[in-house]
Amino acid sequence: MALAQSVLEELRRVVGKEHVIDSSNDLRIFERDASIEGSAPDAVVLPANAAEVSAVIKIASKNRIPVVPRGAGTGLSGGAVTIRGGIALQVTRMRKILEIDPVAQTALVEPGVVNQELSLVAAAQRLFYAPDPSSQKACTLGGNAAENSGGPHCLYYGVTTNHVLGMEVVLADGSVHWVSGDAPDRIGLDLCGVLVGSEGTLCAITKIKVRLLRTPPSVATLLAAFPTIDAASQAVSAVIGHGIVPAALEMMDSVTVGAVEAHYHAGYPTDAGAVLLVEVDGIAESTLELMNAIRHVLAENHGYAMREAQTPAERDLLWAGRKGAIGALGRIKPNYYLHDGVVPRSRLPQILSAVGEIGVHYKLPVANVFHAGDGNLHPNILFDLRDRDVLPQVESAGEEMLRAVVELGGALSGEHGIGLEKSAFMPWVFSHDDLDAMRLVKNALDAHGIMNPGKIFPDPERKMPHLAGRTGLAIEAKWW
Ligand SMILES: Cc1cc2nc3c(=O)[nH]c(=O)nc-3n(C[C@H](O)[C@H](O)[C@H](O)COP(=O)(O)OP(=O)(O)OC[C@H]3O[C@@H](n4cnc5c(N)ncnc54)[C@H](O)[C@@H]3O)c2cc1C
Repeated sequence: MALAQSVLEELRRVVGKEHVIDSSNDLRIFERDASIEGSAPDAVVLPANAAEVSAVIKIASKNRIPVVPRGAGTGLSGGAVTIRGGIALQVTRMRKILEIDPVAQTALVEPGVVNQELSLVAAAQRLFYAPDPSSQKACTLGGNAAENSGGPHCLYYGVTTNHVLGMEVVLADGSVHWVSGDAPDRIGLDLCGVLVGSEGTLCAITKIKVRLLRTPPSVATLLAAFPTIDAASQAVSAVIGHGIVPAALEMMDSVTVGAVEAHYHAGYPTDAGAVLLVEVDGIAESTLELMNAIRHVLAENHGYAMREAQTPAERDLLWAGRKGAIGALGRIKPNYYLHDGVVPRSRLPQILSAVGEIGVHYKLPVANVFHAGDGNLHPNILFDLRDRDVLPQVESAGEEMLRAVVELGGALSGEHGIGLEKSAFMPWVFSHDDLDAMRLVKNALDAHGIMNPGKIFPDPERKMPHLAGRTGLAIEAKWW
């Protein structure tokens, strides 16, 4: 439903008329993120600072209009999709790195700063920002904080919440607050901890203070082939079981390797059942010692054709293949549906075998590329949206994979959030009381439910017809 002209005029007065978009053609650009569902907003508003964000949210609150904060739209769970219409609060005009403090090793940034840009700028001071989602060339630090994003190097360094010191946020009534700040420890109620990962459902983030780390003096990167995905999974458990926590430990199956090699020509072995990309960093002596130990464990677990990057360019190419893997899958099918369940590392062989069986059952190709070190599974179900009736099959296959994850003691998301796509599955892992406790926090901060409605919590207004009637798998969602 279009917004009233009077509301549009108020919004234009706040941010300038060129920063309010309401033509139906232009709105379609904002109807999706990188997940599979879409719904156009009634207006896109592009504020320049926290004061404008506050004024926009006050207008929305007064008129009970949904507000969906939006960064680069690379989210993989439908978080930025305006499923109930309303305002897409596009923060990408707020893209300044306000301060880098080389002594405190911190940066103060606006939410629209692109993740990789911060590390590129901080490199001049021999510093870097550790959480590195594979989408880091595009995704924003605001989106990362809202999703508590991970990335290949989060196995060793920790995910976004471990690197956010404090945030300036605008709540649903338009009030502006700082939560936590310069001190390394959070005291009192950890509101920053609550808001990181809240997926735009509790606040709009307008500034972020993050921790930076010293660039390690030495890095070693190894590519190892395995005859099967099962052998590669056992090797992952064995590495960690030997007390070694590499900076990154990534796995790609043969489907992914084929697509990546055709695109990047990075020397990935296309005869392998799976490959591991392992990186260690630190002082030269320790990287050498760790890499030798890792080679030994991998060889004991059927690893072969091990190749260590000899130059920074070679390392960059290996990582370009890994970080560009999802795009390269476009060579196989034009669309993908990507889930990110997480299982205890020791269950990787079982879950990968279950994922394979589900793909065969639905006759859908599945490519696995994931942060294996932390048990974070990323099955990409590949399909062509132009095939009639394929979408319900794809969604059912995705649902079964998540069900298998939960049955193996895992969780619904390792890093991509719950968003729209997994909200109906929340009762699989949380009791009614658990969900009620979360709902109390939501109600306390957003009494009228205007911030990103329809996300995280099971949504009684949302119909999921494809879920009905499949024996043993239909969801018994406990709606409020
Ligand atoms: C190819 C590819 C690879 C990826 N690899 C990874 C990976 O390795 N690790 C990983 O964790 N994720 C990964 N992702 C997912 C995605 O990039 C991350 O979730 C990222 O943090 C989203 O950032 P964004 O700026 O695109 O946010 P958006 O998609 O725009 O929004 C995501 C969520 O954050 C909220 N939000 C955005 N900005 C704000 C704000 N300022 N204030 C409050 N809420 C806000 C939105 O409402 C929404 O709920 C990948 C995605 C793709 C397409």
